[in-house]
Amino acid sequence: MHSGEWSVELIHSWLAAVKDPEIPVLNIHDLGVLRSIEMLDAETVRITITPTYSGCPAMNTIANDVRRLLKSKGIPKVEVLESLQPPWTTDCLSPQAHAKLEAFGIAPPQTGSPDKTALFSEAVTVPCPQCKSRNTQLISQFGSTACKALYRCSDCHEPFDYFKCLR
Ligand SMILES: [Zn+2]
Repeated sequence: MHSGEWSVELIHSWLAAVKDPEIPVLNIHDLGVLRSIEMLDAETVRITITPTYSGCPAMNTIANDVRRLLKSKGIPKVEVLESLQPPWTTDCLSPQAHAKLEAFGIAPPQTGSPDKTALFSEAVTVPCPQCKSRNTQLISQFGSTACKALYRCSDCHEPFDYFKCLR
């Protein structure tokens, strides 16, 4: 493949193969981290992504995966920029992302409940992704990763991760 044979639309569709390393059911479109795709010249593509939770180590993996994928498609130069403005929030997650998270056993962020302010006060009510019970308890503000909290369902007794709200 040589210059001119790829388009923003084509690159956009290729990037669906880049997954969140922590939640492999979500790709970068689901996450809402892809800000722009620009063709700088015949050989160079610039991809702008926005970090999710600050300091999330997943972003380095995502940036490397984007570079590797586009190089493998024959694009000679790939720049990956991180843009902090406007900041990413969990509202950036696509509607499909919510369904995929739940199917994966992770409770999706509850809209209208910014956990930043609730961090040190009472926990939000998070329905169990397994049995949908709202009778759940916060076990830890930090689950398997910093962007998730650990809950346990009081009905089916299963622990589960909750993808914390951020806005
Ligand atoms: Zn349950």
